[in-house]
Formats: sequence, structure tokens, C-alpha cells
Amino acid sequence: MDNVVSIVKCDNYDEEIVYDAVLKAINNLGGIDKFVKAGQKVAIKANLLMKVAPEKCATTHPAVVGAVGRLCKEVGASVVIVDSAGGPFNSMYMNSIYKTSGMTDIAQKYDLELNQNFNFVSVNYDNGVVGKKFDILKTLYDADCIINLCKLKTHAFAGFTNAVKNMFGAIPGLEKVEMHGKYRDISTFCDFLYDIWGYFGDKIVLNVSDAIDAMEGEGPSNGTPRHIGVVGASTNPIALDIAGVRLMNADPMTMPTIIKAQERGLIQDLNIQIVGEDLQQFVVKDFDVIVPNLQKPFANYVPMSMQKFVQKMMTQRPKIVKKHCRGCGKCFAHCPAKAISMVEKNGKKIANIDYDKCIKCFCCQELCPFGVIKIKSGIVYKMVNFKSKKRRQNDNKKNA
Ligand code: SF4
Ligand code: SF4
Repeated sequence: MDNVVSIVKCDNYDEEIVYDAVLKAINNLGGIDKFVKAGQKVAIKANLLMKVAPEKCATTHPAVVGAVGRLCKEVGASVVIVDSAGGPFNSMYMNSIYKTSGMTDIAQKYDLELNQNFNFVSVNYDNGVVGKKFDILKTLYDADCIINLCKLKTHAFAGFTNAVKNMFGAIPGLEKVEMHGKYRDISTFCDFLYDIWGYFGDKIVLNVSDAIDAMEGEGPSNGTPRHIGVVGASTNPIALDIAGVRLMNADPMTMPTIIKAQERGLIQDLNIQIVGEDLQQFVVKDFDVIVPNLQKPFANYVPMSMQKFVQKMMTQRPKIVKKHCRGCGKCFAHCPAKAISMVEKNGKKIANIDYDKCIKCFCCQELCPFGVIKIKSGIVYKMVNFKSKKRRQNDNKKNA
């Protein structure tokens, strides 16, 4: 796999402007017919995290999905748009997401299929480090090839999500929560992500990133849209992720998926080859990044009696804004560590987190439909990251 990343400017989500940008981005890599052939069934694996409008930037924008779909159809392939969101993988739930996220309209307009097959297949992957047998969506299993069409966002658990993390959506519905329960620490979770990639192998022919309007702050669901103005493409998801992290003006080696890629020998270094436009001109210098909880090993060196306190000071954790909790119970139902209970307060039911049980997977923060679960940082975490933010700003000034 090479390390070439195509970067193309794209100012907004006007469908024709996006089409031109996606066309250029893929042409820089050799053109769509290098990856997709006539008669093939192409699965476009979008990021359809939840039922929100495209403007929230939690999902891949329909204009980008439409552009990739049109290009595949132009070479004579058929297209199915597919993802498994954060909730149940069934017709009612997924069709409501398709509608709200703009997929229904874009699919109708360009004659693209929306996945209606809610079955899954159990697969074996003997080379897996942690995932040797797991379930994947039947539609991805059946497809001739896959285009991984991701959205660049911050992510409370993984730091950011772009190409590599997007394929976690190959795991059906609530099994994703089970996987968070099984692969609790971020390092093991990243191993599982690369096992999914290892299973699919060359079937994933291309990765395209919607970084036109990304998400900063409390991603992947409750952050703030932030304009970057870029469509990225690469055959190498790790290279595309390194480019994505650089666009957010963060250090790739603070991100667990990239650290893991190096650990597993999937990349030698952070050098990527940019084609198209200069990535540097699109870097958002004050992008509100998340630095994930990597400090755990340090906390292990302090006495047992102090570990809990040190952990709290050094990490981020979910915090429910109780006065706004609507008591829907979604976080309670999906917490893999069973750390959430529903309690009575002032005559209404609200959610409550038991931090002794919480594994900090941030599934609850991702899934709360009302955005009332925030990310709370410990004081040491804040100080360390304030310092590194300052360092980034100073570096930028020097390089300006
Ligand atoms: S409370 Fe939230 S972050 Fe903690 S284990 Fe449960 S879902 Fe994960
Ligand atoms: S998902 Fe959000 S609104 Fe629903 S119970 Fe949990 S915190 Fe409250």
C-alpha cells in the first residue's frame, strides 16, 4: 500500500462543487475506473452515526455520498449506501437515519440503493490479533468492493475518527457496544479495528474523507461544525488519517489508531505523500481537538490507594448534565459496562453514572440523542493539554 493522499479544496456542499472536488481527488489517484469496474456492486460505507441533519456534521454529507455514487455509476457499477449506526440495526431505525441525514433524497436523485438488508454474517479472521471471529454486515460481505466514505471528526474515545475508525460500522448495531465491553482499553480496541481492516483487505478499494465541514470539540456526535474545506482520498486509510489529524493541527502520534498502526508495522513513519493541493494551507490552527486518555500507564505507578484519584485528575470522563437529562434511558440500555442506572430525582427519572464501573468508552456520550452527556477533563489532563495547545500555537507562530 502506498502513502499517497489526494487533497482537493472544496468550499461548500453545493452538489456540483462537491462532485468536481471528489472527481479531482480520485483522478489524482488514477481515476475511479482504476478502483471500480463495470458490473460490480460497490458498497459505499458512509458514516451514519445517528439521526441528525447533515449540517450537524456528525454524518458523511449526502453531497459527498452522491458524488462518489455518481462516479461509480458512470463506470457502470451499481451502488449501495450502507452503515450500521450507533443503535439497533433494523429497518425502522436505519430508515429514519437515512431520511434525516439526507441519504434518502440523494439516493433517489442519483438512483443509488439504500441498504435494506439488516442481516449479518459471522466471519473468521485467523490473523486477527484480538478479533479472530466477528460479525459483519451482510451487505459489506456481499459487495464486490467497498469505498470507505468517512467524516473527519473529533472522537471522545479515539481522539478522532476518519478512515480507520469508520470501518467499526461494519459491526452490526448493538454488537458494537458489546465490542466496547470486550475491548475496553483503547489499545486493544485499536487492535480490533485493524483486525476488521485485515479481514476486508483489498476489498476496500478506496477511502474518501468528507473534511469540508468537520466536527471539533465534543465529537463524534455533540461537537461543533468547523470548516476545513477539503475532500481527501487515498487507498491507504492510515495515510488519510495522518492527513486528517494534520488538518486538525494535532500531533498524529497522540492518536491511538496511528500509534497502533506503527506498533503493528502497518506504517514505518508519518511521512505521507500529498498530491493535489498543499495540505498546509487548509490546516485549522485553532481546531478544538481531543487528546484521548493515554496516561493510564503513568497512573499505575502510584500507590493503589491513590490510583482512582490520579486517574480522575489525569483523564476525561463522561458527565451527565442532570438538569437536562430527559430520562430516555438510551445511555442506560447501551452502556457496555452496566455503569449507568436510572434514578429518581425531583419526581423524574434521570441517568446516573457509577464511575467505579465506567470504562470510559464514551458510547453514552456518542448516543445520547439530546446531547446532555458532556466530556469532563481532570485538572492534570487540562494542564497537560493546555501546555501542548500552547506549544502548537507557538509552533504555528514560528512557522507562519
Ligand atoms: S458510562 Fe458511558 S463511558 Fe462509561 S462505560 Fe458506560 S457508556 Fe461507556
Ligand atoms: S441518553 Fe441522555 S437524555 Fe437519555 S437518559 Fe441518558 S443522559 Fe438522559
